[in-house]
Order: sequence, then structure tokens, then C-alpha cells
Amino acid sequence: MSSTHEGGCVCGAIRYRVSGQPAIAQACHCTFCQRRTGSAFALVVAFKEDQVEMTGTTITQYEHRSDESSRWLRSHFCSQCGTSVMITLEKNPGVRVIPGGTFDDPGWFKLGRHIWTRSAHDWIAFPPDVEVREKA
Ligand SMILES: [Zn+2]
Ligand SMILES: [Zn+2]
Repeated sequence: MSSTHEGGCVCGAIRYRVSGQPAIAQACHCTFCQRRTGSAFALVVAFKEDQVEMTGTTITQYEHRSDESSRWLRSHFCSQCGTSVMITLEKNPGVRVIPGGTFDDPGWFKLGRHIWTRSAHDWIAFPPDVEVREKA
């Protein structure tokens, strides 16, 4: 039996449903995620593409090229309200990354680890039972 969880953008034009558990749920403290979200870190929840169903006509995408690896990363967002609802990466084909805060129940998944903590804010305290990585 696989459970499903739903979510979507702020205006509701884009909705999605995921089936089953994520491969990994991470808090990413990299400076790219800080900038693209305008926040201290990003909740990045990774699924296989066949676990994710997305509906809505306002979805659009922005392609960013990493200055380190020169590989692309695409941010899929709602052109009406600007909410990022999915990330895809050249590095991880077949993987769909859902921003954790867009789930209707944003607390349903278990956080697996914190990554890129070398650029984390110094006021962030990491719980002792969660894996912490300086880089990815
Ligand atoms: Zn929207
Ligand atoms: Zn990041």
C-alpha cells in the first residue's frame, strides 16, 4: 500500500500528488538555495519521476547553469504566483525534487540530512540525530 501526499503553489493553479516515500528529504544550506528561496535553507524532497503527478497550465521553468560543474538545474515554478514547485537536475535524471514547504502537510516527511552546511547561518543548530554534511 502506498500513501499519497498532495501540494501545490500559493495561488492553487498548480497542484501535484506524490506516491510513496521520498528517496531522501534534505535541508540544503547552499548559497544558491538561499538566494532562489530568499530563505536560510531549502527543504528539498527527492522522488522518482513516476512517483510525481503534476497538473496545471501555469507551470514554467528557469534553467540555471552551475558555475562549478556547468550542469543545468531547472526550477519549475508557477508563472502566476511565482512559487517554485519542482526542481530537476541534469546530474540526477529521472529525479523530481519537490520543495518541502509546498506540501499541504509540510511536516509529513522525515528529514534525512542537512547538506552544504559550510554555508549555513551560524545561528542554525543541528539536531544530534540527523546527518550533517559540509558539502553535498
Ligand atoms: Zn500559482
Ligand atoms: Zn542547495
